[in-house]
Amino acid sequence: MNENYDVVVVGGGAAGLNGALMLVRSRRSVLVLDSGTPRNAPAAGVHGLLGHDGIPPAELYAKGRAEVRSYGGEIEDAEVVGAERAGDGFVVRLRDGRTVRARRLLVTTGLVDDLPDIPGVREQWGSGVIHCPYCHGWEVRDRPIGVLAIGPMATHQALLFSQLSDDVILFGHTNPPSPEQAAQLAKRRVRVVSGEVTEVVVEGGAIVGVRAGGTVVPREVVAIGAPMRARVGFLESLGLKTVPHASGMGEHVPVDPMGRTEVPGVWAAGNVADLAAQVGSAASAGAMAGAQINADLIMTSL
Ligand SMILES: Cc1cc2nc3c(=O)[nH]c(=O)nc-3n(C[C@H](O)[C@H](O)[C@H](O)COP(=O)(O)OP(=O)(O)OC[C@H]3O[C@@H](n4cnc5c(N)ncnc54)[C@H](O)[C@@H]3O)c2cc1C
Repeated sequence: MNENYDVVVVGGGAAGLNGALMLVRSRRSVLVLDSGTPRNAPAAGVHGLLGHDGIPPAELYAKGRAEVRSYGGEIEDAEVVGAERAGDGFVVRLRDGRTVRARRLLVTTGLVDDLPDIPGVREQWGSGVIHCPYCHGWEVRDRPIGVLAIGPMATHQALLFSQLSDDVILFGHTNPPSPEQAAQLAKRRVRVVSGEVTEVVVEGGAIVGVRAGGTVVPREVVAIGAPMRARVGFLESLGLKTVPHASGMGEHVPVDPMGRTEVPGVWAAGNVADLAAQVGSAASAGAMAGAQINADLIMTSL
């Protein structure tokens, strides 16, 4: 690692690697620091991504890393634990004690899905327990699906899954639907089961049911919309803050359409800024932020 870079990209998922690609192709010195836990790591394949539908996440990111490196970009497997402003740039601190300097920062650290503490959920996350009809919906089409009402979008989620299977149950759990939502669900033939969910029942590595109000209802797939939290707590010292997202789905870092945060010199892209971004839109936001950082560095040199 050099000590000084034009840009340090914190996070090497779709957003970070695409941002880095734009920057290295603009002859910027770039270091990507990545702790190796992209959000979709538990999934078998990336779906809905033109030209790459079904590609295993690790394969996509390996290709992206190779592309960034082919233009001279550097990528380190390392965790960033903090950053401070230093002169007209930043000092970035790594967990192993090293520091690097950057003129600009691109933060692409993604988000954390705050999964409910219900037995079976965590172990099945990304296979039997899913969140997104566009990521895994086709793969679970026509199967018995249970949607767990743990967030404000549960009814919406159940309505979307009803496009993929005729056997969808919304488990009211701690967030039962309103009479208006219940009427919408009925129109799409989504049944509602009340009672708190205490277990996603797993046998032989597969989901066989959902225990609600003490009764096990047979299901093969569970969908949940867990609250989402941008992964930026370690950058609080820079003044980078999260705010509640308008959807009520969690906390994100606000950015302008170019990815610029409220902190001068710091851009953010992908899930850290946009909780709803999929791989394609995260990559696209990263590319936009990378291009804007390059333009900003040019303007600074005038
Ligand atoms: C189970 C599951 C399946 C999904 N399937 C699909 C799908 O089929 N299609 C689709 O389009 N989308 C899918 N998604 C959504 C997809 O995961 C996100 O859109 C995408 O990961 C967002 O990219 P990102 O670059 O913003 O963040 P991430 O991919 O999460 O990348 C963030 C990176 O930052 C790194 N990082 C975090 N903190 C630090 C730190 N302090 N220091 C250094 N590095 C750090 C992480 O290790 C990670 O590699 C799925 C999501 C889940 C949960």
